[in-house]
Amino acid sequence: MPNTDTVDVAATVAQVTPLADAGSELVRVTVNNDAAAAAVPRIVGQLADQGTTVPIIGDFHYNGHLLLTKCPGCAAALAKYRINPGNVGQKRRDENFSTIIKVAIDQGKPVRIGVNWGSLDQNLLTQLMDENAQREELLDAKEVRLNATVESAMRSAVLAEDVGLPHDRIVLSAKMSQVQDLIAVYRKLAPLSQYPLHLGLTEAGMGAKGIVASTAGLAVLLQQGIGDTIRVSLTPAPGGDRAEEVGVAQQVLQALEFRSFLPQVSACPGCGRTTSTFFQEMAEAIQSYLKDQMSEWKIRYPGVESMRVAVMGCVVNGPGESKHADIGISLPGSAEEPKAPVYIDGKLSVTLKGSRIVGEFIEILNGYVDRRYQPEGASEGPEASLSALEPSSQ
Ligand code: SF4
Repeated sequence: MPNTDTVDVAATVAQVTPLADAGSELVRVTVNNDAAAAAVPRIVGQLADQGTTVPIIGDFHYNGHLLLTKCPGCAAALAKYRINPGNVGQKRRDENFSTIIKVAIDQGKPVRIGVNWGSLDQNLLTQLMDENAQREELLDAKEVRLNATVESAMRSAVLAEDVGLPHDRIVLSAKMSQVQDLIAVYRKLAPLSQYPLHLGLTEAGMGAKGIVASTAGLAVLLQQGIGDTIRVSLTPAPGGDRAEEVGVAQQVLQALEFRSFLPQVSACPGCGRTTSTFFQEMAEAIQSYLKDQMSEWKIRYPGVESMRVAVMGCVVNGPGESKHADIGISLPGSAEEPKAPVYIDGKLSVTLKGSRIVGEFIEILNGYVDRRYQPEGASEGPEASLSALEPSSQ
């Protein structure tokens, strides 16, 4: 999600664009007032004009029923509506929710019913708490809250279908801010739901904490076959990169071998056998090089995103890891002969020496990519630049 005021069309387009360029396949924008709703068609139009086709989803709370009916242009421009059933009103909850569903039906749009732990339907929670109080064996309050989250999602989905929204236009989510709660609630929801499930640890936080917590929660669920779309909700540092969460989401999926986005570099951590920072610089240079090439490579070399590259610090594990990669290099450790064997498809191909090891390895890498991933019939050679790839020294 961008964090711009949606009314500011230029700023919002400017934030959506790098998210889409980073590989985000859905982008959600806040639609919180009349002006924001009026801005949505312009945002979608400007994105389309510049060739950015990522679907834009509207995030509605409290007044979605009013905005979507008052601004049909917004309703038509959005690819999907996200409704939080805890935030559609207390007294006229079902009526307001149904109004949004009717707009979705008329516009032929899907809806994500996005329950959030922090804004749970209070009437439902109170009802389940009261029912729990009548039980012989009481559930603890947290369990009741988890059950209320699941119940809110499922009841809302049933109501949406009753109003007439086709079954295959409903997505459910039940976001939590704690990893164990997230796992618990989706384990409850998944067996009950025939709808696609969107996963995400909400309010995951900043930096390593947010990345690790999101990965831990998502990985457990995805490995169990739970989840169809994911969001990583990171808090960027001030002025930080909002697209970082897209890269993290991709890495989660690639680490689990569900999807591939970028060639992966296996590199050892280094130890007393590595002679200097050269090995780290080389691993970083190769990783940056691969990332930089992908906008062109993914078009020109189908399948290259699954390539595995090894950059290892010495001969202890270097050749073994290199043999398991598609292409790998093992640098000389301290007291080792100053040469770097390169393995291609498990076989020793060449041994590099001297100060141009990185550039020469990139040339070999380019040739390998061109031979292996060039579609049949295409014959152009690699053109990638090798400039600025040499680490400072060994
Ligand atoms: S491969 Fe060599 S340099 Fe890297 S961690 Fe293992 S022993 Fe250390």
